Amino acid sequence: MDLGTTKSIVTGISGGKPIVLENAEGFRTTPSVVAFGKNGNCLFGETAKRQAVTNPENTFYSVLRFIGRSYEEVRNEVTKVTYNVQKDNNGNVKLFCPALNKQFAPEEILAQLLCKLVEDANKKLDGSFTQIAIVVPAYFNDSQRQAVRDAGKLAGLEVLRIINETTAAALAYGFDKKSNETILVFDLGGGSFNVSVLEVGDGVFEVLATSGDTLLGGDDFDWKIVDYLANEFEVDQNIDLRKDRQALQRLIEAAQKAKTELSSATQTEINLPCIAVTQNSPKHLDRTVTRTRFEKLCSDLVDRCRVGIENVLRDAKLNKSDIDEVLLIGGSTRIPAVQEMLKNLLGKEPKQNINRDEVVALGAAIQGSVLGGAMTGILLLDVTPLSLGVETLGGSMTNIIPRNTAVPTKFVDNFSTTEDGQNNVKIHILQGDAELAKHNKSLGFSCLNGIPPASKGVPQIEVIFEINVYGFLSVSAWDKRTQTSITVNFDPQ
Ligand code: ADP
Ligand code: MG
Repeated sequence: MDLGTTKSIVTGISGGKPIVLENAEGFRTTPSVVAFGKNGNCLFGETAKRQAVTNPENTFYSVLRFIGRSYEEVRNEVTKVTYNVQKDNNGNVKLFCPALNKQFAPEEILAQLLCKLVEDANKKLDGSFTQIAIVVPAYFNDSQRQAVRDAGKLAGLEVLRIINETTAAALAYGFDKKSNETILVFDLGGGSFNVSVLEVGDGVFEVLATSGDTLLGGDDFDWKIVDYLANEFEVDQNIDLRKDRQALQRLIEAAQKAKTELSSATQTEINLPCIAVTQNSPKHLDRTVTRTRFEKLCSDLVDRCRVGIENVLRDAKLNKSDIDEVLLIGGSTRIPAVQEMLKNLLGKEPKQNINRDEVVALGAAIQGSVLGGAMTGILLLDVTPLSLGVETLGGSMTNIIPRNTAVPTKFVDNFSTTEDGQNNVKIHILQGDAELAKHNKSLGFSCLNGIPPASKGVPQIEVIFEINVYGFLSVSAWDKRTQTSITVNFDPQ
């Protein structure tokens, strides 16, 4: 399954080839939207999306942007959605549903969507599948991956593998290729941006490097138009439309439509009658947005994509001339300014005969089939996208596993005590590439308990950090001096 920020697709294998499984409504894609009606009934996909304007507070979309995150990390995001994003006592994100008067974790909402999608697939196949391979943005950190796996578990599924989006796309593209190629996969969807460089050929898929941004996607391009329209309206009418959830939902939908039209037209009209009312008089919003204006508004977003490509090439130690093919995936790669930037930077036309909407899900089917043993001769070598480290003196981060290390991997680091008789050591585990600990993602604290008593600095504790093929971290430890294993309580945050 491609569990996307905007839409999801379920796939399977038929006659040795990956195929898309339609949902119960007969569509190949399902909007990743879950809504609760006034009487508590649950709506999904297209049905949920259609009623968003009249039920903005109970309609949950772009939920993947919130998964596995602390409230602090998404502070700037919460005003951009029409539902109420709250902070629980542990600082985690919760989504409030007024219709049920209930808080949900983002993974609980996604679990409902997963249930419905799997149920539809089972009906379609006349089966009772309970195992799944889920695709996530390649640049997801450990917390985000864990939360997606939790969503699968909550849906009663066994998540066999979490696959990276760009890797899945490369699988679908290259699974019947014989010759070796170096490919760059550029993925810009609704909520996240990922770029990977891979060597592909003869059944071997080796990721050389991955970069990206998990808060950069089509939603951000929409938001540029929303802000532009709302700011202009505020100047004219002294009303901030972003404060009214229904008006905001209408603005977001209009911005999405305008953005999509600007991918083929050079200008578009935005027309929102009665978007606000002042002193009993209805106010309308009428505006023309040109492609030039849109490109100006979004230039910083396109720049962030460019930086991601430069980073991935540097990490892979390649020049642009080493890239044989460029694969575009994700709906937002239809934006002309994005394509222009890619062409200028890489000096190459992207591959055209790729279905940018379905290729990721088709790759997931291939990987699922390999895991299930039905397909053989495919070897996938992926990397961990972000450096893993620990907090050290002065609040800095010391790297243990550098980004773009092939997974599975195992690194060892040595720790000791700073006080006589100290029987435990607490290690703060971080993921990211910033120098200061506070600018990286805190994955949690690993507590080494039961260290045999000794003077300070004497214990020689070897801590083993392991990242498995899923990209998941585990921590274990032992005392070399006394040859005893040490219990590690790792509390992922
Ligand atoms: P996901 O976010 O689930 O990965 P997609 O890859 O389909 O989904 O990307 C969805 C994003 O692509 C949305 O923000 C959508 O508005 C945008 N999009 C789709 N078609 C176009 C288009 N023609 N021009 C610009 N953006 C588009
Ligand atoms: Mg996607």
